[in-house]
Amino acid sequence: MSQSVVNVLLLYPRFQAGSFWNYQETCALVGAKYPAPPLGLITVAAMLPDSWEPRLVDRNTTELRDEDLAWADVVFTGGMLPQQRDTLAIIALCQAAGIPVVVGGPDVTSSPEHYAAADFRVIGEAEGIFDAFIEAFERGERQGTFEAEKFKADVTTTPVPRFDLLKFSDYVQVNVQFSRGCPFTCEFCDIIELYGRKPRTKGSAQILAELQALYDLGYRGHVDFVDDNLIGNKKAVKAFLPDLIAWQEAHGRPFELSTEASLNLADDTELLKMMQQAGFFVVFVGIESPDPDVLVATRKKQNTRRDIAASVHKIYEAGIFVIGGFIVGFDEESDRVADEIAGLIDEAAIPVAMTGLLYALPNTQLTRRLAAQGRLHAEFDIADAEDIKGDQCTAGLNFETLRPRAQILADYRSVIEQVYSPGAYFARLRKMVSMLDMSGPNGDVMNARLFSDLKKLGRLVWSITLHKREHRGHLWRMIAYTLRHNPRALNPMLQMVALYVHLGPFSRFVLQRIDEQIAEIEDGNWAQPALVAAE
Ligand code: SF4
Repeated sequence: MSQSVVNVLLLYPRFQAGSFWNYQETCALVGAKYPAPPLGLITVAAMLPDSWEPRLVDRNTTELRDEDLAWADVVFTGGMLPQQRDTLAIIALCQAAGIPVVVGGPDVTSSPEHYAAADFRVIGEAEGIFDAFIEAFERGERQGTFEAEKFKADVTTTPVPRFDLLKFSDYVQVNVQFSRGCPFTCEFCDIIELYGRKPRTKGSAQILAELQALYDLGYRGHVDFVDDNLIGNKKAVKAFLPDLIAWQEAHGRPFELSTEASLNLADDTELLKMMQQAGFFVVFVGIESPDPDVLVATRKKQNTRRDIAASVHKIYEAGIFVIGGFIVGFDEESDRVADEIAGLIDEAAIPVAMTGLLYALPNTQLTRRLAAQGRLHAEFDIADAEDIKGDQCTAGLNFETLRPRAQILADYRSVIEQVYSPGAYFARLRKMVSMLDMSGPNGDVMNARLFSDLKKLGRLVWSITLHKREHRGHLWRMIAYTLRHNPRALNPMLQMVALYVHLGPFSRFVLQRIDEQIAEIEDGNWAQPALVAAE
C-alpha cells in the first residue's frame, strides 16, 4: 500500500541570549555558529516511518524561511527552559500558518501547562509513545497529548540519530548519549525527576553504531556524551569503555570526548584511566559548594567527606580537565560563601567555573519544599516578558531567601569578580596546564588535530591577537608557558583561552545585571513577586 509523504519540519528553538553556555563569540573564533546541535530532534527524526520526510532548521544557526513552513505538513519543536520563549513563538507562528505543531522535550515534560496551545504534546521520553502519535496523526487526528510512563523508556531501542540532517561545520561539537538518569538525590536537580535515579544505558554495539555513523559521514573532532552523569551506572560504563577504546584505536582516534560526571569519578583510578584511554579530555562536574553543611542539606552527599580540590587534581592527573558548576543562594550558606567558593575555584585550578544563582526549576524537590514553605515565587509569563536575557547567572533566586537577598547577590557578584578577572582566570589556567597529564593518547591526537587544521588554528590565534587586544598578551604568554612546561596540553589550553573570549565579556554582563538588581533592592524599587500559596 503506498502512503503519502508527510513533510516534517524539525524546528529547533533559539536559546535565549546572554547565557553562560551560549558562547557564540568562541564559536566564531573556530568558524562555527553554535556550540552543539539538537540531539533530541534528530533522534526523533530517526523514529519516523519511511514515508515521513524530515527537514531540520536549527534557529540557533539558520534563518527559518517562508518556504520551509510552506513545505511542512507538520512541525516538531521543543527543548529546554531557556528555549521556552522561542518554542512558544514557533507554536504561534505555525498556528498562524495553519500547520499542526508537536512539542516535546524536557521543558514540556516539566511544565506541560505552558504548552497547552500546541496541537500535540509529547510528554516524557519519546521511545514507547512516539508510535502512538504517528498512528494518531496518520488516522487524521490533529490534536492530542501523549504521555510516557516515567523512567520506563527502553533506551536500548533508541535508533541511531539522523546525524545526516546536520551541517557539522555549524557546530563546535556533536552530541551522543549513552545513558539517562542519575543515582544521586541533589535537591535542586530536575534530571532525576525527568529520567529517574536508575540510570538506563544503551548497549556498546548501539552507541558504537552512532559513532560509526558520524565517522562514515566524515565527522572528526569533538563528540560530547550528553549523559546526565556518565558514571551513574559504573558497572555499565566500565563494560562499555573497553569497546569504545578498541573502536577509537581501530579508527585512528577520530574523536576527542567530553561528558558530565559526578565528583566520585576521582575515587576510581581504573575508571579514570579507561576514560583517558577512550579519549575523554574534559568533564563537567557539579561541585556546587565547598561548605559541607550546604552539601548535606542539598543532598549532594557525594561531594562531602572529601578534599574537593584534591579530587579535581586527581582528574587532571588522568589528562581530563574539569569544568566546575557552583551555586550561590542555598539556605545554609554563610556570609563567608563568596571567599570560600572563589578560594576553592582557585585552589582546585578550575578555569571555567560555571557559577550561578540557585534557581528552583519546575518539578524538583527544591521547588516542592519551597512551595510547601510558602517561599516560592509564582512563575511569570515568559511569553509576555520584555527582556529575557540571561540564565541562572542573572535570573536566579526565584524564591524568598533566608539571608537578605541583596547580601546574596553581593556575595555572588564577588565570586564572579574574583574568578573572572583576566589575571585570576589565566593564573588558574597556568596551574591547570601544569597539572594536566597529557601522556595518554589524547595529548598526541589533540595536538595533531590542532596542527592538521592550520586554518582553524590560525583563525583562532590571529583573531584573538588582532581583534581581542585585551586577551592577546595572556594568549601569547600562555602559549609560551604551555610550550615550555606541557606542550601536549596546547589544544585544551587554547580551548580555555577561546572560552574566555566569551566568559570575560559575559562576566562583565553578569556584574552589570547583578549591580542593577542590588540597586533596585537598595533603592526600595524591587517588587517582591507573588508567592505560590503553601499547601
Ligand atoms: S549528581 Fe548531577 S545529575 Fe545527579 S542528582 Fe546531582 S545534580 Fe542531578
